[in-house]
Amino acid sequence: LRGEIVTVGNELICGLVTDTNSPYIAERLMSLGVEPLFITSVGDDEWAIEDALLRAIGRAEVVIVTGGLGPTPDDITSRAAAKSMGKRLMLSPEALEHIKKRYKRWGINPDSRAERQALIPQGARIIINPVGTAPGFYMSHKGKHLFFIPGVPKEMKVIMDQGVLPIIADEIPQDVFSARKVLKIFGLTESQVYEKVKDVRYDTERVKLGFLPVFPENHLSVTVRTNSSVADAQKILDHVEESMRDALGDAVFGEDEDTLEKVVARLLKSKEKTIAVAESLTGGLLAERLTNIPGSSNYFERGIVTYSDESKVSLLGVDKKLISDFGAVSAQVAEAMAIGIKRISGTDIGVSTTGIAGPGGGSDNKPVGTVFIALAYDDGGKVSVRSHRYGFFGDRDRIRQISSEMGLEWIRRYLMDEGEKENVN
Ligand code: ATP
Ligand code: MG
Repeated sequence: LRGEIVTVGNELICGLVTDTNSPYIAERLMSLGVEPLFITSVGDDEWAIEDALLRAIGRAEVVIVTGGLGPTPDDITSRAAAKSMGKRLMLSPEALEHIKKRYKRWGINPDSRAERQALIPQGARIIINPVGTAPGFYMSHKGKHLFFIPGVPKEMKVIMDQGVLPIIADEIPQDVFSARKVLKIFGLTESQVYEKVKDVRYDTERVKLGFLPVFPENHLSVTVRTNSSVADAQKILDHVEESMRDALGDAVFGEDEDTLEKVVARLLKSKEKTIAVAESLTGGLLAERLTNIPGSSNYFERGIVTYSDESKVSLLGVDKKLISDFGAVSAQVAEAMAIGIKRISGTDIGVSTTGIAGPGGGSDNKPVGTVFIALAYDDGGKVSVRSHRYGFFGDRDRIRQISSEMGLEWIRRYLMDEGEKENVN
């Protein structure tokens, strides 16, 4: 099955808003084995919408249209849809009732705007919008399946998942069944990932691999298509996934919706460890990522940005002499920062970052990109600390990003090793 996506809105074609709906829809369509063929954006012009629709149904079996279903006069998608299919616009009592309920809940009197939004092409079926007013609708026309849904990304996602996908799965006979998994990797370059998996044997007819660098990570997608059944596709996928994981080892930190911070959060929770961070070059990025997970207060105690030498001394208790002898960017200072933040916060783990993000400040023996990460931890009654020197490449933004990612990776590695020790004992 071939799919096509049309997004409607003047803001999309004049550089004001980036179309983020299409990537989401494309991914969802692929999960059902519908292969996206074209993505088109058009302005709020009736002729442009009609033109895009007619082209889309000429090429694809499934067409998803977002935007222009609202109550304002520039929302003309319904009219364009009706016109291009040769249908009349009809008032949908079901849609009207839903819209009126919504307005009431917001304390607004339903007016002509409500009726406007309840106009849909004759023969179309309403797709209720559980999170907004404008409903979506579905039409089948000459064997093609068209879905019209609101443009607001939050509403689009809910309607896509709860309204559109079930209809596609029900109404459209599927000839292809697919299963997909994305493995998330950190610490290997794209070519290292390729080297590691290149000898893995798999059915190249039905299995496709995708290598996707998403800085600073690498993602490897495995997509399986068969014409037998979903269960078959899943079985093949499980098998390939296992081989890929064997080949890549613990460089794979997660899959699909996982992020490194989510994985770290799960580990901290399951091992009941608490953490505090002292950051220099990452300026709070590490703390931001550790706290963007709901429930992070269970394990995150504090994060301090100690940017100046003076703050490293006064807030973390780093010995002045270490800074004058070895420099603020050194293993010695990174370790003292990690020990310091662990001590003052009373956590199980203390992590620190210090480095040169550039573009200035580099020297011959410590060029831009020199970064030290340290981790202090309880070690049988005493506190031990580890650190490592990295030489990262890239601009300031990249060096700061990869440093915060590496900080998270250190926490993940430490907690995984902990698990192993526990298993051995
Ligand atoms: P509404 O009932 O809110 O008017 P609508 O279907 O008319 O819904 P639009 O008016 O086209 O939707 O867009 C609503 C909001 O969603 C706007 O802020 C718009 O910028 C945003 N939006 C629309 N389409 C997209 C898209 N493809 N990608 C990202 N944002 C979008
Ligand atoms: Mg609108």
